Amino acid sequence: MKNHHPLADCQNCPLFDRNAFCPSSGPEKADLVLVGEAPGRNEIREQTPFIGASGQLLNMVLENYGIDRNSVFVTNTVLCQPADNANPPADAIKACGERLHREIADRDPTTLMALGNFAAKRILKTQQGITALRAGPPKVSADYPGVRIIPTFHPAASLYNPGAFPDIVTDFGKIAKVDVESSWSPPDIEVIDGRDDLGPLREVFRRTDRPISVDIEVGIDKDIDTVHPEQYDLLCVGIGYARGKVLVIGENGLRLPEIRNSLGEFLDRVKIIAHNGKFDLGGLWEIAPHARVWFDTMLASYVLD
Ligand code: URA
Repeated sequence: MKNHHPLADCQNCPLFDRNAFCPSSGPEKADLVLVGEAPGRNEIREQTPFIGASGQLLNMVLENYGIDRNSVFVTNTVLCQPADNANPPADAIKACGERLHREIADRDPTTLMALGNFAAKRILKTQQGITALRAGPPKVSADYPGVRIIPTFHPAASLYNPGAFPDIVTDFGKIAKVDVESSWSPPDIEVIDGRDDLGPLREVFRRTDRPISVDIEVGIDKDIDTVHPEQYDLLCVGIGYARGKVLVIGENGLRLPEIRNSLGEFLDRVKIIAHNGKFDLGGLWEIAPHARVWFDTMLASYVLD
């Protein structure tokens, strides 16, 4: 039997005999390339990738950003459907590897969206999972010089976990950001945990009057926010007080009255941004009883949903 794709090593692919092939689709040159996992039943029937339920979600996201799907090159990590929609076997990913690489490189894209674990791991040659890979700015790879690689969840993930959909939308938003790479880098973190740290702490508090972001860690699972703060221990408090600047006050520091007083006065005075801030301020009830959340990013995400 003839190869399904001239660049694929079909003779060594466990999916070859299934005769369930779907070619990539899109223009010869494309700024944006999307790479999924493997075609499904609808894709095989229509001979077009992402034409079924996942494809409809994808179309919605593209439309949201004003991206014309006809200008996008859409392909899959493997071009044949595994039996029973199972995960693509490693040998199939390998056999389709050169084909995938050439199809991407020939499009000469500026941005590549890797949809889901299989695409992201193959393109970035890593064993890291998609949840970690999608965080932060676009990634780079020596295999695709100059291409911004944006890993995100597979659209199908949001069919059974609707919470993934806003993350996918956010990740597609990174396409439009020209210089995302230089806009985020890990912050400088200063740990405050003893009396010696009091001077620098007070100095930061004195200089800061812009809104700050606050996050706490406590000795229980944060999802159980029906537990009264009297019933758990405050382990640390993180404060983002300027771009790229974070103070973390540790457990020992939080026991010292001088640090507690300074922190309390500060939190009672400044505007506070927090994610699920009702919980975090609950945990700070003894230290900063008058502190109020000024902007809650979790509530904001619900509103955006
Ligand atoms: N899922 C994929 O990964 N690719 C498709 O083409 C369709 C669904």
